[in-house]
Amino acid sequence: MKTQSYYRLKRQTAIVTGANSGIGKSIAINLAREGANVVINYHSREEDTREVIEEIKSFGGEAMGFKADVSREAEVDAMFRKTIETYGTIHILVNNAGIQMDAPIDQMSIEQWQKVIDVNLTGTFLCSRLAITEFKKRGVDEQVSVSAGKIICISSVHEIIPWAGRANYAASKGGMMLLMKSMAQETAPHMIRINSIGPGAIKTSINKEYWSDPEKAKKMLELIPYNRLGEPEDIARAAVWLASDESEYVTGTTLFVDGGMTLYPGFAEGG
Ligand code: NAD
Repeated sequence: MKTQSYYRLKRQTAIVTGANSGIGKSIAINLAREGANVVINYHSREEDTREVIEEIKSFGGEAMGFKADVSREAEVDAMFRKTIETYGTIHILVNNAGIQMDAPIDQMSIEQWQKVIDVNLTGTFLCSRLAITEFKKRGVDEQVSVSAGKIICISSVHEIIPWAGRANYAASKGGMMLLMKSMAQETAPHMIRINSIGPGAIKTSINKEYWSDPEKAKKMLELIPYNRLGEPEDIARAAVWLASDESEYVTGTTLFVDGGMTLYPGFAEGG
């Protein structure tokens, strides 16, 4: 390992999309704790963004907010321009912004289909394209990291597990998997590393309806061999590792952080 410091991400700049709540918020705070400058991308709720920035500043970290809809090319362009203007370059991108708009397939509107694909998949493409452009332009700065840049996509266990009533979401995450792998294959010769994290059931606003209801929470636990719901911090710790040089030789893979949800727990008793 060529670069070593107490702060694993010192002198690095990260953009985290959808970073004013849930998993993105925890990732942003944990990247900042490791010394990274963090751009808190958000789409709505400016006051929540201010809170995240205040929390980061309270421990001496550096952060700024940037409002942009990740599915809109011009807004994503502006976010990258501002980041590079402010911090000089970018080393880490976390494609976290994501939505669900559930409906049975025969009742799913084109708007529900398109919106989920636009945010979850096209947003990942738009942000990754600009991050890779900057990583290739700058190359490796060994004082900072052994890689020219790192991208972490927040996918889902539903990149491999089908999900009835949420075909748009599962398709977006399945698409994210091959987008991630294809980009990783294409950019590895440039010392760029691209991976995904596949969360299981993590307690955030996206699934509050389930974990806040004891009956529904119990049903969810039946799908989790480790027998507890995940916390945003579980995902953030994995993201810090994937962003750091400790994972130097890891690219093109999905790290499932799911308490064993992808182990087909229905077969635990012999099927
Ligand atoms: P969340 O709703 O708290 O976070 C989603 C964030 O994305 C929000 O901050 C929201 O404002 C932002 N966002 C939505 N549309 C946007 C847009 N167009 N542009 C920019 N930002 C936008 O929920 P979460 O659980 O923290 O979700 C984060 C990611 O984790 C999502 O990609 C989700 O699919 C994934 N995930 C979550 C779970 C879980 O159990 N919570 C499981 C698997 C995957």
